[in-house]
Amino acid sequence: MNKNKYLCGAMIENVFSGTDISEFRIWMGWADRYVILTHMGPDGDAVGSSLALSRYLRSKGKQAVVLVPDSAPDFLKWLPDAQDIRVYSDDPDANEDLVYKADVLCCLDFNVVGRIGKVGASFLYSRAKKFLLDHHPYPGANFDVTLSHPEASSTSELVFYLICALGDFNMIDKELAQCIYTGIMTDTGALSYNSNNSNLFQVVSHLLDKGIDKDQIYRLVYNNYSESRLRLQGFVLNEKMQVFSDRSTALITLTDQELRRFNYKKGDTEGFVNMPLQINGVLMSAFFREDKEQGLIKLSFRSSGSVPCNRFSSDFFNGGGHQNAAGGEYRGTLDEAVERFHKGLDEWSRSQEDCIRQLFK
Ligand code: 5GP
Ligand code: MN
Repeated sequence: MNKNKYLCGAMIENVFSGTDISEFRIWMGWADRYVILTHMGPDGDAVGSSLALSRYLRSKGKQAVVLVPDSAPDFLKWLPDAQDIRVYSDDPDANEDLVYKADVLCCLDFNVVGRIGKVGASFLYSRAKKFLLDHHPYPGANFDVTLSHPEASSTSELVFYLICALGDFNMIDKELAQCIYTGIMTDTGALSYNSNNSNLFQVVSHLLDKGIDKDQIYRLVYNNYSESRLRLQGFVLNEKMQVFSDRSTALITLTDQELRRFNYKKGDTEGFVNMPLQINGVLMSAFFREDKEQGLIKLSFRSSGSVPCNRFSSDFFNGGGHQNAAGGEYRGTLDEAVERFHKGLDEWSRSQEDCIRQLFK
């Protein structure tokens, strides 16, 4: 991270300098209507960062609405103001109108317009100022201001720095701090990866001082499963996980029928893709879920160390993400997706790059 000391109540090394945020600060002088957009399949960081920023903007006297392409999973519904989140498909016309009439569109936790699904068309047509705050590599070009920091743990961490850089550390209340911590926690596996950064722990320390109960947040997010979800996890580990030792890789697939057998609800498969990485020697893990409703296969990838699973996702599935956590979509059958997966690994097995070679014994 940069070493911009930008002290506004919080003793932190802020990634943002006054220059980085000068345009946003000018917009704040005249703009009243803010719409906060985040990615399809919103996760803890998407929802946490969006709710944190909207709470901040509202406390500054602005109108701020969070609009998501599809609903967030139930384990995030306890978050402060989560009941106010608008879901695009609930009223497409009204929500498009909201995007057109906004003064500023704040784009959080995604890097390219394709990631906001059906909200993308109104985003592109809207004449609002477009502000990207994100930690995914390779930001797109559709934004007036781009604050992209792939080295950050989460977009929620960046929202904390933004508010501090705007001189408003003191406006972070307990509820806002809860939103930020949830995003940091869910994007780092409760500070177990992508979090080797003392500055991040300073941020967490400030959030604790604001009154959050981080252990309770952990319980609310991770110890909140239905019985059938936990049984689905058992089924996955026992019967559905395939390990390809000579490729240091594992694959889990779930069909729509299997999901229905376990009373699947959105969010139930969260975390499955990480589990095979617990096996000694597995460096890359994939999880393919049949989504009959959307007519596609949802793909998730995770990797350890320098193995770039985002490249696997982009090379073979037109997906993307972070080096160690990526995703994508496949339009076709689950069997075809699995076939593509194996062909991808065949192709990778001929690579001369060290970061890829380490998968193959
Ligand atoms: P997850 O496996 O948790 O759904 O996603 C992990 C990461 O992969 C996300 O943080 C996001 O960066 C990326 N990702 C997930 N789905 C997609 C997708 O469909 N396309 C692209 N480009 N990236 C995705
Ligand atoms: Mn994120």
